[in-house]
Amino acid sequence: MGSVEATIREKRLPLLTIRDLLFTALILVKTSPPIQLARRPLNILCIGAHADDIEIGCGGTILRLLETHPGSRVVWVVLTTRGDRKKEAMKSAAVFLRGAASTKLVTKSFRESYLPYQGKEVKEYFDTLPHVIDPDLIFTHYRHDFHQDHRVVCELTWNTFRNHQILEYEIPKYDGDLGQPNLYMPLTDEVSREKVRLLMEGFSTQRSKRWFTEDTFYGLLRIRGIESPKSTKYAEAFYARKVVLE
Ligand SMILES: [Zn+2]
Repeated sequence: MGSVEATIREKRLPLLTIRDLLFTALILVKTSPPIQLARRPLNILCIGAHADDIEIGCGGTILRLLETHPGSRVVWVVLTTRGDRKKEAMKSAAVFLRGAASTKLVTKSFRESYLPYQGKEVKEYFDTLPHVIDPDLIFTHYRHDFHQDHRVVCELTWNTFRNHQILEYEIPKYDGDLGQPNLYMPLTDEVSREKVRLLMEGFSTQRSKRWFTEDTFYGLLRIRGIESPKSTKYAEAFYARKVVLE
């Protein structure tokens, strides 16, 4: 596999004149080739409110990045884990990160569903993160995610890291908060199958939930694959609110 490619698509066109619209369309066509990440080991920070969030949101992307960027380092933070969920989170992260040169797994035991109401303690923890890693890429929750824990994690990520590339991942759920992402990571069938297999094997405590099924995960991967300009069947998608080209 070559170097990693990520494709950016404009979320929506601003109000423009017809001439501007034509010009914008040309730019969109011209910028459709993928942006390539630097061919060197990456420092990656993954943050999730709950066990399994990171795997659902960006598990395939992590598997692919570690394959295409040997020598990468990953810090993986799960904020609300206790008991069996903590064991699952630790075990699953270790499997997803087996291709990393070095890893740091952090599980905190903040109370699930109450993250916004433990704001001071959670923010104090986030303040320590820049001392742990200077990330090339940060994966965190989506700003408009309807789960209150997810939203707080997103806010504090942007609060803490002011000069870093942040990608917000999506989590399908009852609330129905999926939107239109603007950055795609095409995934091979093999990587997609591996992601779903590891999720189903790694989180047996979740299998009783009606949404935690293979077809949920394949369904979203497939839809994002259709939207991605690359020709793979599957893709993961992200919200890249700010991107800097150098
Ligand atoms: Zn969650």
